[in-house]
Amino acid sequence: MAIVSPPPSSASADPLHILHEVFGYAAFRGPQAEIVGHVTDGGDALVLMPTGGGKSLCYQVPAIARQRAGHGVTVVVSPLIALMHDQVGALHEAGVDAAFLNSTLDWAATQEVERRLARAETTLLYAAPERVTTPRFLELLDGLASRGKLSLFAIDEAHCVSQWGHDFRPEYRQLALLHERYPQVPRIALTATADALTRADIVERLQLQDAGQFVSSFDRPNIRYTIVEKKDATTQLLRFIEREHEGDAGVVYCQSRKRVEEVAQALVEAGINALPYHAGLDAAVRQKHQDRFLRDEGIVMVATIAFGMGIDKPDVRFVAHLDMPKNIEGYYQETGRAGRDGEPAQAWMAYGLQDVVNQRRMIDESPAGEEFKQVMRGKLDALLALAEATDCRRVRLLGYFGEPSTACGNCDNCLSPPDLWDGTEAAQMLLSTVYWIRKQQGIGYGAGHIMDVVRGKDTEKVQQKGHDGLSTFGRGAQYSEVQLRGVLRQLIAIGALHVDAEKFNTLQLTDGSRAVLKGEVPVRLRASISAPPPKRTRSRSGGSSSSAGSTAPAAAALDTTGQARFAALKSWRAEVAKAHNLPAYVIFHDATLAAIAERAPATLADLQGISGIGASKLEKYGEDVLRVCGGL
Ligand code: ADP
Ligand code: ZN
Repeated sequence: MAIVSPPPSSASADPLHILHEVFGYAAFRGPQAEIVGHVTDGGDALVLMPTGGGKSLCYQVPAIARQRAGHGVTVVVSPLIALMHDQVGALHEAGVDAAFLNSTLDWAATQEVERRLARAETTLLYAAPERVTTPRFLELLDGLASRGKLSLFAIDEAHCVSQWGHDFRPEYRQLALLHERYPQVPRIALTATADALTRADIVERLQLQDAGQFVSSFDRPNIRYTIVEKKDATTQLLRFIEREHEGDAGVVYCQSRKRVEEVAQALVEAGINALPYHAGLDAAVRQKHQDRFLRDEGIVMVATIAFGMGIDKPDVRFVAHLDMPKNIEGYYQETGRAGRDGEPAQAWMAYGLQDVVNQRRMIDESPAGEEFKQVMRGKLDALLALAEATDCRRVRLLGYFGEPSTACGNCDNCLSPPDLWDGTEAAQMLLSTVYWIRKQQGIGYGAGHIMDVVRGKDTEKVQQKGHDGLSTFGRGAQYSEVQLRGVLRQLIAIGALHVDAEKFNTLQLTDGSRAVLKGEVPVRLRASISAPPPKRTRSRSGGSSSSAGSTAPAAAALDTTGQARFAALKSWRAEVAKAHNLPAYVIFHDATLAAIAERAPATLADLQGISGIGASKLEKYGEDVLRVCGGL
């Protein structure tokens, strides 16, 4: 017996009412209310909101409201067909009439979806951009539009339209035609990352000049940023996981397929539940690994950047980079996949000289035009500056997106301010050595040899070339190799030294070298890099911290019986999720289960008002939840 029945077709079209009834949430978050109001009233919108900010509701609530008001279907353009099934499944769980059209559907299922679409019975229809612009699909849309039943276009991951974004998808360019063909239909474009250049590009490409722009703060206060110097990256990663993320779900990004395989294997050998993901794997294997990551608990996905876009798993506790991404947009998008549930999470990166060299080489060797390369170099430099920073990482990150802020207290540099040392003299020795060798011999040398000369090492090469006769030979004997490496990295990062990829990674002076040689630009470095991070804490305010393990942060505050209820609810949820072929979080989030466990409900009325329990879920699962709780 249910006390709440599903909404009748005449259900309220008021957005706040829909938020309560369908999604079971008490209030809109941040700018959601304003965006939802604007779009529900038929306005165009460009929404920039960080991952986890709650973009989906910004178009889902208007879609439901407008359908209920008689405007018909919302078409959601989403780049990844692999995720549509779960997105639509989540809406079904909430009692919303949603569907997707993609190549995974068989003929009969496609027919059925198209039939319901043509009758405007569907509230949200998900499709990939290449599908949306096919003549067949446009014909369907024409039919809807002619009857005033084409309500809204929602363009997700809108940065894909721009070559300046990090996931450029040429098919997105075609989407401009939707506006040309259906100028009366409102559009909402959403993205989690866009610097000013990308934003301007989105506006132009999608013809959103007159759209309202809703730019949220990009801060993700629950994510702690840490960047360590790379020594033995795999071992460093292992320690990081063992110390701070035992049993947690996480994503590890590596640059190459080979590295992905190696690292995944090393983690598995260390007893960590890790899986590889890269474009070289069979599509079926990839899908299987992705499903396991989404459906099982505590999986670590080791992946190339081919993985992650559109993944909305809320309880990813860490994102680790073993290789440096190309730019801050990429870094921010990837790290943003941690902690969407708002609970504490970490972004951890190991970074070394080789990363700098590799990224510069990739730009130098790319077939792109010089202007494009110049932009890419500028973006890489910004990321290098972040990696080398000795002050608050978050201030730099947010500053990059044009947002002023103050020291955050939740990044490595804030938590344990690094001791600095003045590397100017060492930098001058290194630069002079590069200069004199090139002047004498007309050729350059790599970093290793230059450091040997400065440190006065009597290697075979030094003797052969007579470099022990240079005036800088042995002048920097007091510096360790690690220190000099740090100086070199910093010099490359600030553009005072160039690595020539076409000539065996030899070092060359640049226009920026002079200022360092003349002492006009000081070179300041951290003294002890990669000090061990503070022990794992579950909450930023220092509240109750749980022991390591896969206890959900949301449940950390529960007493013993509460924990038992939470555990029982989780195993019940796992069964339901399996039966519905959906990830567990689509049924209920951990936070919702924790709230249920805390309340110890005895009647359906006790469940009402718990965040995440809307009318449909209350009806579907209310009795079951009471039964599970009643047994304890
Ligand atoms: P984004 O797409 O911006 O990364 P999502 O739309 O996936 O973010 O939302 C992130 C999480 O926050 C989801 O689990 C969602 O259910 C939750 N959420 C969004 N808006 C609200 C709200 N107003 N109240 C409670 N939870 C919300
Ligand atoms: Zn900080």
